[in-house]
Amino acid sequence: MSETIYQVCTNCVMDTTDPEIKFDESGRCDFCDNYYNSILPSWHPDEIGAKELQTIAEKIKKDGKGKTYDCIIGLSGGVDSSYLAYIVKEKLGLRPLMVSVDAGWNLNVANENVHKIIKALNLDLYTIVVDWEEMKDLQLAFFKSQVPYQDTPQDHAIFAGLYNYAAKNGIKYVLTGGNYSTEGVKPPQEWTYLNDIRLIRDIHRKFGKHPLKTFPLCGMFKYKLYYRYFKGVRVIRPLNMVPYHKDEAIAELEQKFGWQQYANKHYDNILTRFYEGYWLPKKFGYDKRKAYLSSLVLTEQMTRQEALDILAKPPYDEALAMQDLEYIASKLDITKEEFIELMNSENKTFRDYRNSEKLLKSAIRFAMRVGVEKRNFR
Ligand SMILES: [Zn+2]
Repeated sequence: MSETIYQVCTNCVMDTTDPEIKFDESGRCDFCDNYYNSILPSWHPDEIGAKELQTIAEKIKKDGKGKTYDCIIGLSGGVDSSYLAYIVKEKLGLRPLMVSVDAGWNLNVANENVHKIIKALNLDLYTIVVDWEEMKDLQLAFFKSQVPYQDTPQDHAIFAGLYNYAAKNGIKYVLTGGNYSTEGVKPPQEWTYLNDIRLIRDIHRKFGKHPLKTFPLCGMFKYKLYYRYFKGVRVIRPLNMVPYHKDEAIAELEQKFGWQQYANKHYDNILTRFYEGYWLPKKFGYDKRKAYLSSLVLTEQMTRQEALDILAKPPYDEALAMQDLEYIASKLDITKEEFIELMNSENKTFRDYRNSEKLLKSAIRFAMRVGVEKRNFR
């Protein structure tokens, strides 16, 4: 393998730890190009967006007449979904059913946030509890597979749980907290990979013990094609149509609901905290904060220097990492030593397993060409 020279973008903080990154002569990366050339021109968190959102809200209300709920929102307790709940109920006057998926790893602070929002906004909450034996089995299979993407079992359960519920119950509108403001730079494929059900099944087949009987599964084609065109499920991202600044949203949530912040994006969850703060950086050299911080830099919510200063510090405390490691090991019914052995074993990627990369990539490229997907994807 040839040695790559380390390079960091001169405009954001993405760097050559993404092996696919490209730079122009001025040292600006392709995430930046994608942001300025593809996302920014079509992104309207202003009067245009407000008007568009109002039109969508009227349509949702009309279609939902006579139903208990006119839309559905997945609520994690994080800033994006909490702020979305607030906008949708208070500003748009919609009647969302809130759905939370309990995959077993949430910290109390996230659950408390969920309940604060529900109570203050007088919303109904439906909680999907993922069968723990299946969740545990799939998670341990993923750790044994040695791939970077240890958030896949949990994220997939949350995603599939929500969409399967919406489709089954005839709810036509799924409103998500997805947004360009905090997620404009999508973590690269080498760090996070894709929603690939074939990979999930293959890893489970090789390393799992229990059959997945009730575990929520939803492949990209079921989601993008079957649910969209046969079940009529539409996905709306309201946070892209309103001004959305992370710090201001947090301040508003704290003040209105007593909502509580946690250290980093996605650190509302022990598994995610360990995976993003330890497994990925220690084992693979990938630091997802680079993508999150780059989004904030590009949207001028933070300077590049501020982002670099944050990155100069470790993602999380070593002592807390060890504590989380022990906790995760005990929840997965393995010893600390066995878990450390997993940490030290040979790294693998999706390429070492059966996967649908080619098919999924061509589908995403098609979505980008017709303008449905704007974020960078190679
Ligand atoms: Zn850049």
